[in-house]
Amino acid sequence: MMDEATQALHARITQGMPERLILAEMEDLRPYECDGLAVYRQLPRLVVLPETIEQVQHVLRSCCALGVPVVARGAGTGLSGGALPHADGVVLSLAKFNRVLAIDPLARTARVQPGVRNLAISQAAAAYGLYYAPDPSSQIACTIGGNVAENAGGVHCLKYGLTVHNIRALEVVTIDGERLRLGGEALDAAGYDLLALLTGSEGLLGVVVEVTVKLLPKPQLAQVVMASFDHVDVAGAAVARIIAAGITPGGLEMMDNGCIRAAEDYLHAGYPVEAAAILLCELDGTAEEVAEDLARVETLLREAGATALQVSRSEEERLRFWAGRKAAFPAVGRISPDYYCMDGTIPRRELPRVLNGIAALGEKYRLRVVNVFHAGDGNLHPLILFDGNAAGELERAEHLGAEILELCVAVGGAITGEHGVGFEKINQMCVQFAALELEQFHALKHAFDPQGLLNPGKAIPTLARCAEYGAMRVSRGELPFPELERF
Ligand SMILES: Cc1cc2nc3c(=O)[nH]c(=O)nc-3n(C[C@H](O)[C@H](O)[C@H](O)COP(=O)(O)OP(=O)(O)OC[C@H]3O[C@@H](n4cnc5c(N)ncnc54)[C@H](O)[C@@H]3O)c2cc1C
Repeated sequence: MMDEATQALHARITQGMPERLILAEMEDLRPYECDGLAVYRQLPRLVVLPETIEQVQHVLRSCCALGVPVVARGAGTGLSGGALPHADGVVLSLAKFNRVLAIDPLARTARVQPGVRNLAISQAAAAYGLYYAPDPSSQIACTIGGNVAENAGGVHCLKYGLTVHNIRALEVVTIDGERLRLGGEALDAAGYDLLALLTGSEGLLGVVVEVTVKLLPKPQLAQVVMASFDHVDVAGAAVARIIAAGITPGGLEMMDNGCIRAAEDYLHAGYPVEAAAILLCELDGTAEEVAEDLARVETLLREAGATALQVSRSEEERLRFWAGRKAAFPAVGRISPDYYCMDGTIPRRELPRVLNGIAALGEKYRLRVVNVFHAGDGNLHPLILFDGNAAGELERAEHLGAEILELCVAVGGAITGEHGVGFEKINQMCVQFAALELEQFHALKHAFDPQGLLNPGKAIPTLARCAEYGAMRVSRGELPFPELERF
């Protein structure tokens, strides 16, 4: 049974789109109650699945007129609760916007709708020898609209940049239903860089309805070196040595023993299960470039203390080395009833110290933490293993996660690398930014969305919330980062 306010909203929205595109029944709403961070759940009033940009405009105009919150949604694979519905709001799914509109092999661009899956872009571009570089591990499912909203990254972003570096133009609908075109064919544009501003804005400034992405020629050759280490610290230090030597690998990823074992049990990728850590270092380019870089990287890794090296000798073997890494999250899902994936970024030189810090925090909270991450970017993904049915474990996992993020800030890093702030990390924004900076964020939000209807309660905390969070941390004796002194 819909309440009065929902009925009014439903009636208003049906004026501009067919009723079959509006979900209102509990069992239809249920699949939308959470994203990939499933510990937080909330049913919305309605879910709408528009098929045209005019229908998106109509939904936004209706919500704007009635003062109803709107949460845009791609595939719902986000890991920070960004697409978590608002109890009084509408979920605006872009799932039906799933067409590749045009590929221009001369300009090396693709014009796509926001609900197109990340991998589908490279699949469509393959016929021209081109691909879309940012490759989140969720790329078989996540959408390009969600990637833009989160400024998603992936294994290949160390060399080829994040989403923001790989898009050329966006079409966006504002909360009052206006269409904006941002960016274009030229490399630079006059005025403020609104294209960059919208990228990573987590659905708070507008709804992306079209994306023009940059395509790259496929490298002639790619090979992966898998290096084993008997200490996580040593592997962390090896990462810094490779980058300092002036080599930019196509990908440089690290897994600790917990992840190595989980991935090996799941996929049999040939990982050394006794190693404390492995580094996967991909080199790509022409055959000559790869051969030269490979020789240098092998020497550097040996000098850095690698105990064994394996080099992929075929494309099949290269894909097998990556398969374990790409499936590391589901693999860890098999060894623990629940896991909580954190996402923070640190300066690369701090890798050994922060990895030790995370291990010590795990002991403090009596929870196991395993690590798999984009080491070359300093982008950590500690996975906190817990059992949501065991009393107090979820709360301990949340506190542990918060302390890990605040440790990242304390060493000069950031509370997110690619998963966004969403609902999950909103308190840590208070640690990352001063009140004045947050006020500037609010001013920007107000310029786009004066009523604060787009994805409210996410990404940017109110100053009152920060004051409360600060008081709570002080009363728990958690300032200023006592952990750091110890590592
Ligand atoms: C197993 C697994 C592995 C992952 N690996 C990676 C990884 O390697 N790198 C990485 O960056 N992320 C990774 N993620 C996280 C996630 O896949 C990314 O954040 C992705 O960009 C989310 O896309 P989505 O379509 O699922 O968006 P959703 O989860 O539906 O939404 C994410 C955010 O974007 C907003 N949004 C969605 N569509 C639009 C739109 N059209 N206009 C405006 N706002 C919109 C939503 O409101 C929300 O705030 C992983 C997730 C999983 C489950």
